[in-house]
Amino acid sequence: AKIVVPESVADPLGYYLNNTAKARNLLETATGCEIKRFIFSSTAAVYGDPSRNPVTEDEPLKPLSPYGRSKLMVEWMLEDVAKAYDFNYVALRYFNVAGGDPKGRAGQSTPNATHLIKVAAQAVLGLRAKMQLFGTDYPTPDGTCLRDYIHVSDLARAHMDALRYLRGGGASLVCNAGYERGYSVREVIETVKRVAGVDFPVEVSGRRPGDAAAIIAANSRIKATLGWEPRHDDLEEIVRQALAWERGLAARKRG
Ligand code: UDP
Repeated sequence: AKIVVPESVADPLGYYLNNTAKARNLLETATGCEIKRFIFSSTAAVYGDPSRNPVTEDEPLKPLSPYGRSKLMVEWMLEDVAKAYDFNYVALRYFNVAGGDPKGRAGQSTPNATHLIKVAAQAVLGLRAKMQLFGTDYPTPDGTCLRDYIHVSDLARAHMDALRYLRGGGASLVCNAGYERGYSVREVIETVKRVAGVDFPVEVSGRRPGDAAAIIAANSRIKATLGWEPRHDDLEEIVRQALAWERGLAARKRG
């Protein structure tokens, strides 16, 4: 799927085609092939700007962006498909996925990445001269947005847990995947600078379209139903591995 909130604001039809219409095709094929278990990558963006944080799965769904809506429509399709066929699913609502494989085998490679930790890691390496901080007037303690950053390995394990649950006959389920703890954009940037031991310019800009002020996962459901437990719930570790991955990527590009 496409996963960039501001891009979805600029190109809603592209997002509805790629994330929604193609998911419909995939579900048609899956049900046609009698696939009975399905794990869907949903998103915290389905909540929009929740009135309460940490946000539980039962809070109202009011996505602020075409990205969030494109994913919510797939959650609805799954609900209907599970009623019509012998088909069970787990939809994992991903919060902010970050970090890299601790053994360095995988990390975020997207060209023209826009995600906060990746952008900051590129600034550390001098791959960009500066970075921008979008919005300092949000109703949060330091005025910048709060997000719940989940280590990619913990998220990957949530999928294994979901598969085990479905194979054991578990009923269809929607779960948040996050740590129940938020960091502000400023805190993340400071952590990147501290862990890297490198300073870089940060330019304060206006709010980015589609951004929620604060979004933090309640995670008791995923723990209770899938038996999931965080193992890498540490922003410094996430940042260290994101930096290591970015360094490796830059070295490979240089050849
Ligand atoms: N952000 C920022 N500068 C950047 C990239 C992101 O200030 O170069 C902010 C963004 O406005 C949001 C937070 O960092 O408040 C997380 O954004 P990201 O794109 O990483 O993930 P999202 O929450 O949109 O999925």
